[in-house]
Amino acid sequence: MKIRQFTFNLFQENTYVVYDENSSDCAIIDPGCYYPEEEKALVNFLNDNNLVPSKVLYTHCHLDHSFGSKFLAEQYPSIAFYGDAKEQYYIDNSEEQSIMFGIGIQRPPSISHYVYEGERITIGNCQFQVLETPGHSIGGVCYYCESAKVLFCGDSLFAGSIGRTDLYGGNYQLLIQSIKTKILSLPDDVTVYCGHGYATTVEEEKHGNPYIS
Ligand SMILES: [Zn+2]
Repeated sequence: MKIRQFTFNLFQENTYVVYDENSSDCAIIDPGCYYPEEEKALVNFLNDNNLVPSKVLYTHCHLDHSFGSKFLAEQYPSIAFYGDAKEQYYIDNSEEQSIMFGIGIQRPPSISHYVYEGERITIGNCQFQVLETPGHSIGGVCYYCESAKVLFCGDSLFAGSIGRTDLYGGNYQLLIQSIKTKILSLPDDVTVYCGHGYATTVEEEKHGNPYIS
């Protein structure tokens, strides 16, 4: 599995392109490209690597994780949007949210495929398993590839920190429970790619994260 990380928009959100050498298929996890130069950087990377994204995988649908969705839907009309059904709330309310933050957005397309706990999603030769991890948002999920030992956790967990729980649908107790039962129960050597900041490992967070250790 190959992973390309971009850091986009004024919230410094991490957008990931997941692909492998033997296929033109790829997925974009949480497309946060906002400015034209960010859209261009993403498309240039896809074109340079002969990649055509078939899916957007949302860990959750907060604004900063979905800024680029409308653009991708226009560029790649057959792209599907995967996410938990409960996350549609944030898309439905995205315009109000953007006014609150004082920024303009185009409403992201609706989720077209509702993911569920244990679902397996194939991207090229990679297979991801869906782990439901609510707490930061109402229907947050992680995408776990067992063979590559990689987890995309959105804003549930950060290196040395955890996601905020003060927005709609946030729940601190639930987030801690999600992290402990779904993320820290994975093998120690799983690399955890977060929605913001640096990647970490299960082992590092088990021992070094003050919120959960
Ligand atoms: Zn978030």
